[in-house]
Amino acid sequence: MKIECYGGRGYESNCYLIMDDGETHALVLDPSVDFHTVFRQRGKSLPPIDKILLSHAHFDHMLAVDDWREKTGAPLAVHEADAAALGDGEKNVYRLFTGHDGGTAPAEQLLREGDTIAVGDEYLTVLHTPGHTPGCMCLYAPGILLSGDTLFAGDIGRSDLPGGRTSELMASLRELGKLPPDTKVYPGHGPQTTIEREKKYNPYIGE
Ligand SMILES: [Zn+2]
Ligand SMILES: [Zn+2]
Repeated sequence: MKIECYGGRGYESNCYLIMDDGETHALVLDPSVDFHTVFRQRGKSLPPIDKILLSHAHFDHMLAVDDWREKTGAPLAVHEADAAALGDGEKNVYRLFTGHDGGTAPAEQLLREGDTIAVGDEYLTVLHTPGHTPGCMCLYAPGILLSGDTLFAGDIGRSDLPGGRTSELMASLRELGKLPPDTKVYPGHGPQTTIEREKKYNPYIGE
C-alpha cells in the first residue's frame, strides 16, 4: 500500500491519498485540499478514486470534501457515530472555528468497527476510536495506521469539543498501544511517527 500526504498548513489537516502498490485504485482520507491541487502535484495523474473517507466529521478534515465529491463522484464514507455531525455546524465545529455554518450532505456509506475497505486488492480495517469525537476512526493495515485526531506524534487529540470524552479517548489510545511497535502512524496533523516511538515518548500512550 502507498500513502501520500498533502496539505497540513494552517487549519488544514493532513490529506492522505491511499493507493494499492500498483496505483490502480485510490482512496482519499480527510480531503482538506482541493482535487486539482493534488492532481497537479502528482503530475496530473491520479488513479480512480473509489471512496472519500473522513477520520471524523470535523471542519478541518472536510474543507474540500464537496469539491472531491463533485469532481470524482466517489461515495463519502464516515463512521456511523459521526454521521449526524456532517451537516451540523455545531458538532462539526465549523461554527466555533469559522463563525459560520458549514458541512456536507449525508454520507453514502456508514462504517463500523471491523469493517474493511478495499484499496485495489489490499484492505484497510476500520478501528473505532472514540474520544476526540464519538465517531473517530483509525484505518489499519499491517504496518500502517492512519490515526486521524486520536494520536499525533508526541500528543493526542483534544477531548473538550462537542461529543468529546476523555475516558473514551484514553481507552482508544490503550487499544492503539497494542498494535505492533513497528506500525507506521500517519496522523491527522503533524509528522509521521511509529507506535514504538509513541509508547516511548508520548505521555498519553505509555506501556
Ligand atoms: Zn478533529
Ligand atoms: Zn483536526
